Amino acid sequence: MIDLQAKAIAMGFPADIRWECRPQWQRLYVVQDGMCFYCDCGLLKESHGGPQSHAVGGQRPFTRDHVMPVAWRGRTQENNKVLACEPCNQAKGDSYPTLEMAKRLVRQCKRLGLEPPSWCHRLLIEAAA
Ligand SMILES: [Zn+2]
Repeated sequence: MIDLQAKAIAMGFPADIRWECRPQWQRLYVVQDGMCFYCDCGLLKESHGGPQSHAVGGQRPFTRDHVMPVAWRGRTQENNKVLACEPCNQAKGDSYPTLEMAKRLVRQCKRLGLEPPSWCHRLLIEAAA
C-alpha cells in the first residue's frame, strides 16, 4: 500500500496521515486517479459533494455512490462504494450495475486490497456462461 500513500501525497493530500488512516473518500479518490468511477471525468478533490459545490475548471464535485444500490440490498461497505460525478450518480439512480461496472469494481477493490462483493463474481460468471 506504500505506493498508494506516495500517490496520495503526490496528489496533494496531507503527508502526515498514513494510508490506512485516511478518510475513505481520500482512498477512493487516489485509487480512482481523481476521476469519476463511471465516466472518467475529473473530480474536485476539495469537494464533499455538498449541494453548494459547483464544477471548477472542468472538474466536477464528487458524490459517493453504491455500485450495487442499497435498494438492491447493496452493502454500505467500502468494497461497494465509489466516487462519482453528480450527473452519473443521478443517471444511475437505483439501476442494477452492468457487467462493465462489475469489472471496474473488481479492479478497484484489488487496488484497495479489498475482496470484491460477491455479486461482482456472479455477474462475471453469468456473462461468461
Ligand atoms: Zn461521471
